[in-house]
Parts: sequence; C-alpha cells; structure tokens
Amino acid sequence: MLSVDEARQRMLDTIPILPAEKREILNCTDYVLAEELQATENIPPFDNSAMDGFAVRAADVKEATQENPAVLSVIEMIAAGYAPIKPVAAGQAARIMTGAMMPDGADAVVMQEVTQQDADKVEIFESVDEADNVRFTGESVAEGQQVMGKGKHLRPPEISMLASLNCADVSVYRKPTVAIVSTGDELTPLGEPLVPGKIRDSNRYGLYAQVEEAGGVPIDMGIAPDDAAETERIFRAALAKADALITSGGVSVGEHDVVKSVLAKLGEINFWRVAMKPGKPQAYGIADGKPIFGLPGNPVSSLVVFELFVRPALLKMAGHQKLLRPTFKATLAETITNRDGRVNYMRAILTESDGQYIAETTGPQGSGILHSLVLANGLITIPAGVTLAAGEIVEAQFLF
Ligand code: AMP
Ligand code: MG
Repeated sequence: MLSVDEARQRMLDTIPILPAEKREILNCTDYVLAEELQATENIPPFDNSAMDGFAVRAADVKEATQENPAVLSVIEMIAAGYAPIKPVAAGQAARIMTGAMMPDGADAVVMQEVTQQDADKVEIFESVDEADNVRFTGESVAEGQQVMGKGKHLRPPEISMLASLNCADVSVYRKPTVAIVSTGDELTPLGEPLVPGKIRDSNRYGLYAQVEEAGGVPIDMGIAPDDAAETERIFRAALAKADALITSGGVSVGEHDVVKSVLAKLGEINFWRVAMKPGKPQAYGIADGKPIFGLPGNPVSSLVVFELFVRPALLKMAGHQKLLRPTFKATLAETITNRDGRVNYMRAILTESDGQYIAETTGPQGSGILHSLVLANGLITIPAGVTLAAGEIVEAQFLF
C-alpha cells in the first residue's frame, strides 16, 4: 500500500496548472500571479517628507538645541499633492506636510514637535542629519526592478503593490471549477423526508465548502444512484462542466460500488489503497486532462481525504507553490494506541500553553462520526502500530 506522502506526490506530479487569464486587481485576491512584473515607475516617484515639519538644510540647524534654537525664515507651505515653488536657501525653511515633495535646496526635515512657528519665522530646537525624515525617489521600488514573479500568491500587500505600480490588471492562473457528485441510493437531499434506510447527503455540502475554502469554484452536480449507466451519465456531464471532478462514495469493495468501474471508463484512473485511516479506499486519475478524485463515502474520510489530497491538488491547479498546511509538534494529553498498520489521522483539539501545543482527541473517532471533526481544530498523526503515552510528541496540523 502507498504511504500518504508517496500517493500524494504521485498525484501532484500529474496535476495540471490551469491557463492564465487577465483580471482586474480588485478581483485578484488569493489568485496566483502568472507573469513577471517589472516596475515601470519609481516608488516613491519623488523625494518627499516622512513627517509633518520643516524642510531645511541640515547644516543650518547643526547646533540647534532647546536652549539655543536655530531661527529660520519660512518661505512657503508645501502640502501633499503639490510641487514646491521656491528653492530653500541658507537660513530658510519650508513648512512641509507628510508625503509632500521636497523643495530644491533642502536636504532634511525637522519634525514639527521640536519646532515653534511664529508667523514667517520658525525656531528649531533639535539638529537633524542630512536625509533625516526624507523618503527618496525609488527607495521602495526602483524603476526597472523585478518586483514579483510567476507563482506569487496575491495577498492584500501584493494587491496594494500592484496598484502602486499602476497595474490595473494582471495575468493570474485561473481558479479551478470543481464538480461535486455524491453517490448512493441511500442519500436523501435536504428538505425531503427521511424514509427507512435513507440518510442525509452530507458529503456534497462539506465538499462544496472545502472546495470554496481551497480557493476553487464548486459546481453542485447532485446525487448519482448506485446504477452504473446513470452514474456514468452524471459523471460525464460533470466533467464537461468543470476542470476537476470529485465524487464521494462507491469506491469500496461492495457490490453496489459502481464508481470504480465508471471512473475506469472515463479515463486513466488509479485505484489506490493508501495506508491511512480514515480513508483507505480512494481513486485518483485523469480524464480528458482533468483530475478526478474518487473519495470514500464515510463523512470523516471524505473530509480528511479532501484535506490531505484534493486541497493540495486544487492549490496546484490555481498556480500555488505552497500546497500543504504547515505541520508542527504537539504534546499528547492522553495515551493513544494505533493497532492498525495504517497511519491514523485523528481529529484533535490543539491548544497552546506556555509556548507548546497540547493535543487532545475529540472522542469517538469512527469514520462515520462527523462530530469528531466538528469539535476539532486540527489533525494529529499517529504512526502505524504504536502506542504513544500522554506527554509524548506527535505531528499536528491545523484544519480550516
Ligand atoms: P460507500 O463508500 O458508498 O460504501 O459509503 C460508505 C458509508 O458512507 C456508508 O455508510 C454511506 O451511507 C456513507 N455515505 C456515502 N455517501 C455519503 C454522503 N454523501 N453523505 C453522507 N454519508 C455518505
Ligand atoms: Mg455507496
């Protein structure tokens, strides 16, 4: 059986990155840049003041102290947004506001708090060095400089930077559209009465939310019955609409598990038994260049397998480079035995105490017990066939 890391790497190696599209930067949050960006302007575009105060020649205030202030004549007031009119000569100062353009002749700004203005004179009570409180042309970004490249995740600072570079739209990787189909004769849509033998379809809703959370665009394709012909029809319709397909249920060994044979008809599918719990049976493959994920039907398995496999795949499709959630060490609050030959991803509450994370499981961990995930904020990894005592260290990760 493949380990989680092996199976995930094999899968990721086959996942395509979607083509790029142009988007306005107001609609680019959480997209990934698909071009190299050079600055076509300096930031800032001119030398300007970092303070409200007085633009001076540093040499004129070199000896200034509280007891012995320098006295300069104020020649103009320069507000943000306007160019200065007069150069500052020896013995002169210009009143200047934060962000306003430095006048010729001045080489520093004295902050207002150490000055006292009286009509067209100003007393300066502290010295400054040349360049103090001045922001120079291009000091943040110089014209021609490479600022961001392909693969850059566009977070709020990047959006702000794009605006300051006068980029109204940029090339980003498309986000994947993802069709979701639940399978099973027992599934009842919300709002319909439950008759004996039937249960609610929860996976479709959980997967829909997970696709959104992973930055994909979910497409709800409803429920497929345990019938091969009808399942094939629905899967084909789903694939035609989306960049990827997620199915839940029907990948196990039961007589009514028709998903495997249908998927095999649609494309190159590997049926994987991954050495993990929850979620051993699952299918993965490509049809018409589109990834297909056959997730297990048990609600916890479906959510956990999505987290560990589908989420990184969708991130890769959208051009992301960081695909996995960070892991860290946590101290077990209880003793845990994993008799299974598979690594167990247990649902846990991770809390911080004195700079350490403490992990406590969320009670019964059966793969049908969805509540174990509702109570959890993370997963902990219990290796195959071990007993770990309270106080021992496990690998942990936050979810959602
Ligand atoms: P299967 O893999 O189809 O045999 O399903 C395994 C278990 O998960 C069964 O108990 C199913 O009833 C349950 N199950 C399958 N699909 C769903 C779903 N969409 N929502 C909730 N439970 C499901
Ligand atoms: Mg089923």
